Amino acid sequence: MSVQRAAEMLCGSRSAVALTGAGVSAESGIPTFRGAGGIWSQYDPVKVASIDSFLEDPSAYWKVSKERGPAVLAARPNPGHMALAALERAGHLVGVVTQNTDGLHQDAGNHRVIELHGSGRMVQCLDCGARERRADVQSRLDFEMPPRCKTCGGVFLKPTVVLFGEAMPILAVEEAFALARAADVMLVVGSSLVVYPAAQIPFAAVESGAELVVVNAEPTHLDRLAKVIIRGRSGAVLPEIAALMSAVQD
Ligand code: NAD
Ligand code: ZN
Repeated sequence: MSVQRAAEMLCGSRSAVALTGAGVSAESGIPTFRGAGGIWSQYDPVKVASIDSFLEDPSAYWKVSKERGPAVLAARPNPGHMALAALERAGHLVGVVTQNTDGLHQDAGNHRVIELHGSGRMVQCLDCGARERRADVQSRLDFEMPPRCKTCGGVFLKPTVVLFGEAMPILAVEEAFALARAADVMLVVGSSLVVYPAAQIPFAAVESGAELVVVNAEPTHLDRLAKVIIRGRSGAVLPEIAALMSAVQD
């Protein structure tokens, strides 16, 4: 059975790494971008989440955030996040590379989390550089649109996430590729693997000899390279894998 096989691979590994996408947070109530119920069926990403449109009209970004932000900020880690944290604690996972910006891996207890697309928990003023908690800005949106910087009054308060058209954080990308190249098992969870360079990370791992496990609700173009494919919800599958692993060790 594939869950059993994944548990055995992770138990025998010395340098396993997880790569996660929006799917791992779907069961925490945060909609994915693509796939069933994805938010790109409601909004045009280029209009809402690109740096050019943000600079043209920050209020367009913040109007969407006013609707969508509270659920993201209130989200709690689900059993899938908790299982990944347990694997790291037990020494079966070196770290988590994530495309998510929701901070839920850290909330679950993972220590080594590499955020490829930044963090949505903080906001930075593009004029003066002042930083503020996203939650504080979010609470002003009812009476301030777009929200203004508390330090300089500027209107370009940008969440510390990578918007479309922005450069990726180079150190995070380098660290992610280094972990992937050193990995003996790469566990890809909840990602459609169409956003680059994140999508290249598992290829780098496989090229360097890693075995691939894919846990995803739908097929991905990486499946042909995978040793094990588990089609299912990460909130159910990952705890099952973790439970089998601790049973093997007892
Ligand atoms: P994606 O939305 O493109 O793909 C999500 C994948 O997860 C889909 O293939 C879907 O079938 C699968 N999925 C959905 N629910 C699942 C579940 N419960 N268990 C397992 N799989 C499930 O996501 P992506 O590949 O991460 O790329 C999208 C981009 O969106 C990333 O750059 C990320 O920064 C951003 N994003 C982040 C969040 C977040 O922080 N939670 C949410 C939405 C989008
Ligand atoms: Zn400022």
